[in-house]
Parts: sequence; structure tokens; C-alpha cells
Amino acid sequence: MSTVLQARELTRHYSVSRGLFKPAALVQALNGVSFTLESGRTLAVVGESGCGKSTLARALTLIEEPSAGSLQIAGREVAGASHAERKQLRRDVQMVFQNPYASLNPRQKIGDQLAEPLLINTNLSRAERREKVQAMMQQVGLRPEHYQRYPHMFSGGQRQRIALARAMMLQPKVLVADEPTSALDVSIQAQVLNLFMDLQEQYQTGYVFISHNLAVVRHVADDVLVMYLGRPVEMGAAEALYARPLHPYTRALLSATPAIHPDPDKPRMKISGELPNPLNPPSGCAFHKRCPHADERCRGERPELRLIDARQVACHHVERIID
Ligand code: SF4
Ligand code: MG
Repeated sequence: MSTVLQARELTRHYSVSRGLFKPAALVQALNGVSFTLESGRTLAVVGESGCGKSTLARALTLIEEPSAGSLQIAGREVAGASHAERKQLRRDVQMVFQNPYASLNPRQKIGDQLAEPLLINTNLSRAERREKVQAMMQQVGLRPEHYQRYPHMFSGGQRQRIALARAMMLQPKVLVADEPTSALDVSIQAQVLNLFMDLQEQYQTGYVFISHNLAVVRHVADDVLVMYLGRPVEMGAAEALYARPLHPYTRALLSATPAIHPDPDKPRMKISGELPNPLNPPSGCAFHKRCPHADERCRGERPELRLIDARQVACHHVERIID
């Protein structure tokens, strides 16, 4: 195993206009996210929309520049990298999106789309590219005749297989997958997840799996990072976290998610109250307005991550809650 991704205190703030006569507001989209991802392992990043997981994905794939903190891809620091180095780093981190249609060109044949990363990044001949594409197509369960077809001729599940094949063409060190199965029929979600895991097994890619649903990532995650309003609230080994969630938010997420046949289009969050406005986050613990255990300290003082039972948890009262 080698470390393919290391984030330290990754932070992303940006200002948004609130109208002509008001000062701009600062949105703290991402605050102090740290983790290490090894090759062949999967980190699941879980939280409701607005928790910062998409901002994290954009930072990891070098689409967005972090405001602070550091990111290393396969041991190389992203900040300060030259243009050529960034190109290589971009190649090492690929992304699969929720809607595979959005990442495929509707007017280009599948085979040509899969060959494109090879055309841009390698010196392989046309015949060699074609051979590699055919091999990858076979790996993701597509047939040779699919080479000549266009994206609209495929089902949603097949399109996600194509998107995955395309992301894996250059054998990246890291694959970031943003809700990769939630637009698919429940009946084929498991198949596509299994395909992700087969490819990981073969190439030892490090995966960052993003989801709003803890149940969906249960069978793929080695480690889980739970985020709330831009901040990590709990992180640790998946098995232990599912067996005994410590943070009240993780506990609520888990109890709200049905274990069998989850419908990811309908998050069954039964946590009382709304996600707070990120423009005006609550004082103290950002979860305090929805937390059944909140007290005066929670309203006034923000909990830092602490190590409890080999797990990082940001809650003042974990010890009181869990016994
Ligand atoms: Fe709940 Fe307080 Fe813990 Fe926040 S710090 S999760 S409000 S008990
Ligand atoms: Mg694994």
C-alpha cells in the first residue's frame, strides 16, 4: 500500500454578493478536512447536500483551488506545482459523476471517447489505443460492437460503466466518484458498485466515494468521513463506525437510513430541523439546533475533532451520549 492522497486542513472559503448595498458574505464551504487515502482503499465522504462534499471533490480533482491547507497526490504537493506538474497530477486523479450523460460527448462514438485520454496523454499508436480501449470495454462489461455506438444508445447503467472505463483508461492513482449510482435503478446499483470494486481490486486505485446516504457506501467503504456544514464531524474505520457511530449526526444519519433497498433519490433523513444556512452558520457546534443533546456549551463553543476509540469525533459530549 502507498499513500495516494493526503489532505491536511483542507479549507475552501469564498465570498458571495448579498446585493448592492450589503457587504459580501463569506461562505465557509470547507473547513479543516484532513485524511490519508492508501492505494486500493476507499474513503466514503457522507453528508447532506451543502455539507461540503462537492467542494471537497472539486478541490481533490484540482478544479477548485483551496483557500488554505495542503493536498498531496501520490506524495506530490499540489500547491506550487508547475503547469506541467499539474497536468500530471490531474491525470492521477479522475472523477466519475452522478450523471454519466453529463461527462460523455453525445456526438462522439464511445470507442473514440475512451481512446481520447490515451491520445492526449500517451504516445501509443492508433492500433495500440484501440486495443487498450477494447480491453477496458471488456472489463466493464461492454461488447466490441459498442465501440461504434453513441452515448444515447446505452442504458443509464451502461453509461456509468462507460464513464468509469473512461476515468480508468490512464490508470489514475485516485478516483473520486460523486454519487455514482444514485441516478441508476436500484436493481442495477449493486452491479455498478461491484464493478467499481472489481476495478479497484485490479488496479489498486484509491477511491473517494461521495454520497448523502451512509447505507449506499456501507459495502464499499474502508473508512468514512462524515461532514456537516463544511466540517468533518466524525471519521474512522467503516466497520467500527457503522457498528457504533459516535457523533449524534452520524447516529441520526444511520438510524434514518433503511438498511435494505435504500432509495438514494429520497434521503430518509428524519433529523429534525433544516440544514442551517451556510451564509449564517449557527454559533458553537453547527449541529446544535438539530441535536437532542445540545446544551449551553454546544451553543457557545465549537467542538474540535478529538480522538476517541481510534476515531475522530467533533462533539463535546460523546462520552456522556454513548454510555
Ligand atoms: Fe450535539 Fe453538542 Fe455534540 Fe454538537 S457538541 S453534536 S450539539 S452534543
Ligand atoms: Mg478496497
